Amino acid sequence: MAKPDSPQQWAADFKTYLEFMRDEEKIKAVNVRPETVAALRRRPAAPTPAAVSRGAPGGAVRPVATVPSSPTRVPTTGQPPTPVLASRPVQPVVVTGTETGGDPGELLGRVAAQIEGCKACGLHAARTKTVPGHGNPRPELMFIGEAPGADEDEQGLPFVGKAGQLLTRMILAMGFTREEVFIGNINKCRPPNNRPPLPEEMEICLPYLKVQISILKPKVIVALGATAVRGLLKSDIPISKLRGTWQVFEGIPVMPTFHPAYLLRDPTKKVLAWDDLQAVLKKLGRPIPKQKATENNPPK
Ligand code: URA
Repeated sequence: MAKPDSPQQWAADFKTYLEFMRDEEKIKAVNVRPETVAALRRRPAAPTPAAVSRGAPGGAVRPVATVPSSPTRVPTTGQPPTPVLASRPVQPVVVTGTETGGDPGELLGRVAAQIEGCKACGLHAARTKTVPGHGNPRPELMFIGEAPGADEDEQGLPFVGKAGQLLTRMILAMGFTREEVFIGNINKCRPPNNRPPLPEEMEICLPYLKVQISILKPKVIVALGATAVRGLLKSDIPISKLRGTWQVFEGIPVMPTFHPAYLLRDPTKKVLAWDDLQAVLKKLGRPIPKQKATENNPPK
């Protein structure tokens, strides 16, 4: 998961977001914690926002009523502030018309069309394509990542870059094809500079994922990495602790595991990820492929 490059980059990203809110959404100010204002003041190009509530965005979805302040943990060192979970829930974007049932592929297409028109958060401003997710409309297994990167933004498809290629190999090692599973993300638009999505960006986008899950009805979900776990399960437990332990999202078993991008950075962890994927196969009652991934023989 990409981190902001520097405190300056963090401040520039946040400034872009605020400028979008001002110019596109006609919002004169947003709620920001005093520590965040202090942190921004310490950085170049820092805006000085004051408190107000947010208006309604346009787009094909029902508008978000309010967005909470952007709570941030500001460390005492010169590191960029770490976004933390929003302390108040954001009223959800609601995708209508999917409750009546029907063909899952058609319903997913309708959700994808709504995502394409979505301007509910600042991420829409810089996107090339939305990335609603891809795969079998009634899969046994669903993978959920963080947000699109540059390759995904360009192609409109999830996990098509380097991390995606490893995910494909992990899926194949489990005995599935990419077309047999569904691959999605918490956020459907690329955050600038591949920074992790902000808590409020995840909250605003989550209703799309919830609707998708209600259409897909997967038997098991694999949450890829800390951000996916935070967005889906609202858990701040480190992924190194939570991985390999069954969780539940809306009645569906969820297996948290490492993000493929992390596995590319630290291949010694592939063996643990493979343990997690084997637990998933067991849960699905599927055979464990003979050729086990080990530290010397992981899905490469
Ligand atoms: N990383 C993610 O979390 N999702 C993608 O779609 C690509 C990379």
